[in-house]
Amino acid sequence: MTDHVVPEHLAGAVVTVDLDAIVSNYKLLRETANAAVTGAVVKADAYGLGMARVAPALAAAGCEVFFVAHVSEGIQLRKLLSNAEIHILNGLLSGAEAAYSDHRLIPVLGSLNEIDRWNAHCGDTSLDCDIHIDTGMLRLGLPPDELDALAADVNRLQSLDIQLVMSHFASADVEGTDQSARQLAAFRAARKKLPMGRTSFANSAGIFLGGDFLGDVVRPGIALYGCNPTPWAANPMRPVVSLSARILQVRQVAPGESVSYGATHVVDKPGKIATVAAGYADGYLRSLSGAGYGFIDAVRVPILGRVTMDMIMLDVTDVAEDKCRPGMAVELLGAQVTVDDVAHAAGTIGHEVMTGLGARYHRRYIGGDT
Ligand SMILES: *Cc1c(COP(=O)(O)O)cnc(C)c1O
Repeated sequence: MTDHVVPEHLAGAVVTVDLDAIVSNYKLLRETANAAVTGAVVKADAYGLGMARVAPALAAAGCEVFFVAHVSEGIQLRKLLSNAEIHILNGLLSGAEAAYSDHRLIPVLGSLNEIDRWNAHCGDTSLDCDIHIDTGMLRLGLPPDELDALAADVNRLQSLDIQLVMSHFASADVEGTDQSARQLAAFRAARKKLPMGRTSFANSAGIFLGGDFLGDVVRPGIALYGCNPTPWAANPMRPVVSLSARILQVRQVAPGESVSYGATHVVDKPGKIATVAAGYADGYLRSLSGAGYGFIDAVRVPILGRVTMDMIMLDVTDVAEDKCRPGMAVELLGAQVTVDDVAHAAGTIGHEVMTGLGARYHRRYIGGDT
C-alpha cells in the first residue's frame, strides 16, 4: 500500500487523512442504520486513503465486517485484522480458490459457475460464502434463471454455508428515481427463494433511504471517507481528506500571453501565475483544466489552461506576495474545496477523485491512536 512512500520534505504535495473523522462518520452511519450491522468497504486501499491505517481505526471503533473488491486486498486486510469478517465483492476469482480458504476470506458468489467452483473447492467441508443476486445492475450477481436453478437444487445449497444474501443498488444516490424501490421488490422476491443467512443491500446512499432499504448488514464506503451520500441535501458527513500542494514557481504575466499546453487560456490583464506540483499523474484529473480551483488562505485561485502530467498553473493575481512564494502551500482539497466540489468541477464523482489520489503524494495521518 502507498502510505509514507514519499517522505514529506521530498513530496510536492501532502494528503492528510483524519482518522477521527472516519471513525465519527462510521458512528453516524451506524446510528442511521438503526439495528443493521454496519460494515465498512475498504476496497481500493480504502478509497485511496490507505487501508493499513483506515481498517484498524475502524476495527478499533467496533467495526467487525469488512468488504474489499479483490482477493489480493482481502489477503492484505487479513494481515491487519486477524479476527474480522472479510467479504470479497468481486467474487471467486478462477484459479485462486485456495487463497480464499487459506486466509478465511468469504467470496461473494454471483453465478452458478462460481457456486460450483466453491463447492468443488470445499469438498466435504462447508465454507462460508455469500450469494449475490442481481436486481437490475447487470454487473455481478445471479440472474433470475440462475437463481431459480440454485433454489431448486438442494444438493448445491446443502454444502454452502451462506452468510449474506446480497444485492447492490444502481441508483441509491439519484433523486426522484424508483429504481431502488423496484430493486428492493425484486430482492424480496428472490429472498423467498433463498431465505438463509442475513441480507445485505445498502451502500452509503442506500443507508439514507432508510427503513426496508437497510437490510441486516449495510456496506458504506464513500460516506465513511467524507463525501456526501445524499447529493440532494447538505452533507451529513465529516470531511476526512485534505490535499496541500507546493508552489514551484511564481511569475508575472501580461495580456496576450497564453498558459499551458494548447494555449487554451490567454491572459487578458496583467497578473501573477503560480505553478503547483500536482498533475494528472497524481490523479489531479485533466478534466479540471480551466475548471478546477484551489485556495490560498481565503483567496480562490482558479486553474488556468490545461492540467499537465505533473503540474497545474493557478491564477494568484489576488494573493499577497508573502503568501505565494516557491515552497508555500495551496489547498487543493480541504474545508474550502471539498472532494465533492472537485468531483463536480471535473464532471465526475467523489469516488473517482479519492481513488485517484496519487502515489507521489506524501500521506499524513491525524487522529486515531497516532
Ligand atoms: C463499492 C461498493 C459499495 C460501497 O459503495 P459506496 O457508494 O462507496 O458507499 C457497496 N457495495 C458494493 C457491492 C460495492 O461494490
